[in-house]
This record gives sequence, C-alpha cells and structure tokens, in this order.
Amino acid sequence: MEIEKASAMGFCFGVKRAIELVERAARERGPLQTLGALVHNRQVVDRLTSCGVSVAANLGEVQGNIVAIASHGVEPETMEQVKARGFEVVDATCPFVRKAQVVAKRLGKAGFWVLVFGDAAHPEVRGVLGYAGENASASLEIPRLDTLPSRLGILCQTTQNQERFAEFLVQVISQKFAMFSELRIFNTICDATSRHQAAALELAERVDLMFVIGGEDSANTKRLARICADTGVTTFHIETAAEIDPRWLEGHRRVGITAGASTPDEVIDEVVAALA
Ligand code: SF4
Repeated sequence: MEIEKASAMGFCFGVKRAIELVERAARERGPLQTLGALVHNRQVVDRLTSCGVSVAANLGEVQGNIVAIASHGVEPETMEQVKARGFEVVDATCPFVRKAQVVAKRLGKAGFWVLVFGDAAHPEVRGVLGYAGENASASLEIPRLDTLPSRLGILCQTTQNQERFAEFLVQVISQKFAMFSELRIFNTICDATSRHQAAALELAERVDLMFVIGGEDSANTKRLARICADTGVTTFHIETAAEIDPRWLEGHRRVGITAGASTPDEVIDEVVAALA
C-alpha cells in the first residue's frame, strides 16, 4: 500500500501565529485563558493546557487578568467588554480574519448591506457580522434579497471553497442583479485554505482512499473532507490515528492524506505511522 501526503496541509500561518502568541504570553506572564478554544483542534488545546493556556467559555469564567482572543476573532462588542473589564488582551485573531472584519466594517459604514458567504453559526462569521453592523447577514444559500437596500457588499468566510463562493456570486448576479445599484465583492478566502483545498483535490483524484485529519469542529477540515468525497473517492475524516479501523484499508492500494489548518504535525505523523 502506498501512502501519499497532500503537497500542502496542516498548520497554517494563522494557527502557528496564534499558538506562538499565547505560548509566549504564558511563558512571560504566567497562566492565561483563551476566550473559547484557540483553534478547533482538541490535541492542540490539550497541549496548550499543559503550557498554562486554558479555555474559558465566557468572560465570567476568566481567572486572572489576561485574555487571549482565538484565531477566528470575536465580535467588536466582546472586544469592548474585554477592555472595559480591564483585561490585558493577547489578540491572536488571524490577519486574514481581521481583513474580513475591516472590509465588513467599511462596507457597513458606507451604507451597504453586507452579505457573508459562510456559516452564520461559526464564530468567525459571527465576529465579521458584528463588525458589519445591523445591516448584515450570512448564508450558504442565496437569501431573499428583494427587501434589501440597493447597495450590496459580499465577502466570504476565510475557510470557504473558492468554487462554491464563485457559484454563489454567479447566482446572486444572474438572479438578482437588477435589484442593485452598486455591488462590491471581496474575495476574503485565505491563501492557506485555497492551497490546502487545491492540494487535497489533486491528491484525491489520484488515490483510492483518503484520510482527512482534523478536529471534529474544524470547519476547514470538514470542507477538505467534502472536497475529497465529492471526487468519488472513499474518504474518512478522523481526529487521531486511534480511530482508524484496519478494515477500511481492505482492497485499497493508494492512500492519500490531508489535514486541516489546525492539525499538528505529530498527529499527522501518528496517522502515517499507523497506516504504514
Ligand atoms: S485557515 Fe486561514 S484564516 Fe484561518 S487561521 Fe489559518 S490562515 Fe488564518
């Protein structure tokens, strides 16, 4: 059996940066807490706990006077509360997420309705909507647009798929174009997402079994699994090597591996070793 890893996968720039920021803060200033999980990967969160970085579900749970903001960012109101309560902030918001927040804020201030192509329940999207202000919504389907103002700004959750975003835009433009006096589009999908997805697709098309490694709650990992499965190849989304059932490998000769942006190298190596 051959095992091949995708040419781009695993930790992205934003996740590495977030981990380095909180680890350094914990080393220099002692134990601290992140508001929600720093990244959507249990192994990373567990490892950080041993370095003095634990998770607080909300501001009321924070002990001490330092709070770290996760890579997917928070709503502006949350940031204001953090500052109003006098916490010192370690802001690990990924710069790509920050860019989407800034775009949303500018559009909202300029009087546009802000439409985010993304999962409205995801923390990143909730944060971006918060920056856009009251005239904003998020959806993965074409929403009802006929009641909206005639100026529309569209952006995208950073970890969405380029093709799906393009399809969404084509549908909005082809079905609703006449409704808008001004339409602004910002492609806010991050580089890492695009590279990971392209590499996963290229590999999935050449192998007969794919393993996608990453947190159960990781949106970008789930998207990688969907991209692989959509090629028709048998695909398993796993968090760790312990989940692999040897029967899954029966009859397969070429196995591909990819991993989400918050999956550590050690976890990937353990999967490769288990398969080998
Ligand atoms: S996946 Fe992209 S947006 Fe998310 S943390 Fe990584 S680099 Fe930043």
